[in-house]
Amino acid sequence: MRLILLGPPGAGKGTQAQRLVAKHRIVQLSTGDMLRAAVAAATPVGLRAKSIMDRGELVPDEVVVAIIADRIDQPDAKRGFVLDGFPRTVPQAQALDRLLAERGLKLDGAIELKVDEGILIKRIETRVAEMTARGEKLRADDNPDVLRGRLVAYRAQTAPLADYYARKGMLKTVDGMAPIDTVTAAIDRLLSPAGVGKAKAAAKKPKPAQAKSTKAKPAKAKTKATARRGSKAGRKTAKSVKKPAKKKSGWRKSTTRRRLTKAG
Ligand code: AMP
Repeated sequence: MRLILLGPPGAGKGTQAQRLVAKHRIVQLSTGDMLRAAVAAATPVGLRAKSIMDRGELVPDEVVVAIIADRIDQPDAKRGFVLDGFPRTVPQAQALDRLLAERGLKLDGAIELKVDEGILIKRIETRVAEMTARGEKLRADDNPDVLRGRLVAYRAQTAPLADYYARKGMLKTVDGMAPIDTVTAAIDRLLSPAGVGKAKAAAKKPKPAQAKSTKAKPAKAKTKATARRGSKAGRKTAKSVKKPAKKKSGWRKSTTRRRLTKAG
């Protein structure tokens, strides 16, 4: 089984990844963990990544793609893996598609943990306070300000991946705010044959007309839509006017499935 876990930092991807590892006897491939190990070992990659990670920004695509390419070739990944924190950009997702295709491998699904960002920030504030009280060492990026920056990076660079995988019929969404066991049970259901069928059927259905996300780029049509660009109404109308946006950008043309609750 080969899976991707999507969701902002703090959504519980790591916890659910560990449960998937135990249940399906696959390995967890966390680029965050691998990069932290590289930083600790002061490897060239680690030295390059450290300050970027401390700022909560994304390490360049080619760095993480190379790490993953190497890692999925290891014998322990042969049975399958759950990717946690990768891909984080559309180019990374495309690179992953290529890596898998070259090896004759397929993904079984991308599971998105949907969460409320305001609550995430509160959670991390509580965790930081508790760890500080216990005298434990904090990660450099483990503070509410850096988390806010990471959430901004997530919205801009990673959230579009939900659409990327939805279009392939691979996206499965669960409520990441539910208790951990409930999330695990929901993931189990989604990975059952019936759940997989539903995701594929959803991908084939025409999308609802309303555009929720401000991330969706209006079509680049030089038409009436141009005048309205930027407004919700404009985005809605843009869909029915002329050509879709250029495909290569990886953005959907005029609607985005949904957007995480914006808070904090
Ligand atoms: P994580 O533990 O997944 O939250 O990752 C910690 C940090 O590592 C992130 O804030 C990024 O700086 C970096 N990182 C991890 N995975 C990636 C990735 N796929 N692409 C770019 N940067 C990453």
